Amino acid sequence: MAAKVFKNFIGGEWVESRSGQTYENLNPADTRDVIGVFQRSDKRDVDDAVSAARQAFERWRLVPAPKRAEIIYRAGEILLERKEEYARLMTREMGKVLKETRGDVQEAVDTAYYMAGEGRRQFGATVPSELPNKFAMAVRMPIGVCGMIAPWNFPMAIPSWKLLPALVCGNTCVIKPAEDTPLSTLNLLKALTDAGLPKGVVNVVTGFGPEVGAPIAEHANVQAISFTGSSEVGRTVGVTAAQSFKPCSLEMGGKNAIIILDDANLDLALDGVLWGAFGTTGQRCTAASRVIVQKGVYRQFADRLIYRAQRLKVGNGQDESVEMGPQINEQQVATTEKYVQIGKNEGAKLEAGGKALNTPDHVYGWFFEPTIFTDVNEKMRIAQEEIFGPVLSLIPVDSFDQAIEIANGVTYGLSSSVYTRDVNKAFRAMRDIYAGITYVNAPTIGAEVHLPFGGTKSTGNGHREGGLGAIDFYTQWKSIYVDYSDRLQRAQIDTE
Ligand code: ADP
Repeated sequence: MAAKVFKNFIGGEWVESRSGQTYENLNPADTRDVIGVFQRSDKRDVDDAVSAARQAFERWRLVPAPKRAEIIYRAGEILLERKEEYARLMTREMGKVLKETRGDVQEAVDTAYYMAGEGRRQFGATVPSELPNKFAMAVRMPIGVCGMIAPWNFPMAIPSWKLLPALVCGNTCVIKPAEDTPLSTLNLLKALTDAGLPKGVVNVVTGFGPEVGAPIAEHANVQAISFTGSSEVGRTVGVTAAQSFKPCSLEMGGKNAIIILDDANLDLALDGVLWGAFGTTGQRCTAASRVIVQKGVYRQFADRLIYRAQRLKVGNGQDESVEMGPQINEQQVATTEKYVQIGKNEGAKLEAGGKALNTPDHVYGWFFEPTIFTDVNEKMRIAQEEIFGPVLSLIPVDSFDQAIEIANGVTYGLSSSVYTRDVNKAFRAMRDIYAGITYVNAPTIGAEVHLPFGGTKSTGNGHREGGLGAIDFYTQWKSIYVDYSDRLQRAQIDTE
């Protein structure tokens, strides 16, 4: 059977790419399974999408925010009804296990409900004026057309973090899904259009980074850019946006650490590390890729972890008994293989996994064994660089202070975690770990949508998604002064 062809969505119409070019999207668990044929777009398609968004902005910005919010709320209801269908398609498209793709859709539902509430908030400020008979306030204004470039690891959740706050604030959007996961973004779009989103308010252009993402970032009529992906690409997007002074939110890599102290509940830590390191096959920007363990429990913890990791069931995520799915594509497996070799060369001890899986159940997909290095030195490349695969480094330490120093000793600062039963140490860790997120007695993954999400150092450029951070990013302030004195009053001058 011929694979279904999916088009771009521009100005409320399904349209082919101007070049007529397409590409195939394959199931990473079984590359014989073609998910669909998608448009391979270019700058001309981006131009069309931006002009549709520009036109729609003039109407959408005038729709009262609570009305915009009603559409978003309805989209949340629709997503909830279609949760199973969209989760199954997402597992086929992206590989992560069903439990996780259901969570991914749920995250879009949560974001919809949360952002729908913002339709009746979007709080500004009213403050006293320094002059008599004068009123002062600051209100939030939409920015205009927002360009969005998304990664593949949260194919619906991350686009929802970008689109829904932008929409409730009155912006219109042009979004480029990752080339590996366009279908889940189109499914999110479908929920929005079925909920009544007007034409041109969201436009989806599929294709590759340099061909679609770069023209979005460069476009003169795109007023803000939101990017999630690698630090390397983020840097070029940020530099491009800076040329035209566009607000630009960059959400990039992580090298997240879990600290396990001697007094930790080890059973709890064990479950947390397995989930943090091997959930989504290690392909989360918040994945735990370093576990810093105090020496009193180090060997015991390592042995128990290795035992459990070697028994994780790796396979097609559509099988409910599978615990870890494939990597997203061939390049990602090659990167993981490269880092395993680097780790061995650096003298770390490979104690679990280390190879791509090629049994008959795995031969058509991009599967890799859950991999654990022990006795890792914190300066090794496997302890410093983001791998984005199921590879975990165990680093032994003597003390709490040393653990914090090592946790902070990387160029990233996204997520972090500490397992301890000592409340004093927990609070010191909350204060001293220099990262955007710290969990106490929970792994590095599991962000909730109404809290700010993002990181320090090379993880980002200071913005946050989720929570109020998103409302801040997708609005700009306007200060308004209303003088009802009927005479000229001069701030700072008429001081008597
Ligand atoms: P990952 O390693 O997660 O694939 P990337 O940074 O390569 O991260 O990709 C994240 C998103 O950025 C994808 O949608 C990708 O197509 C897009 N992208 C890649 N290269 C560029 C580029 N030069 N300009 C803009 N977007 C790009």
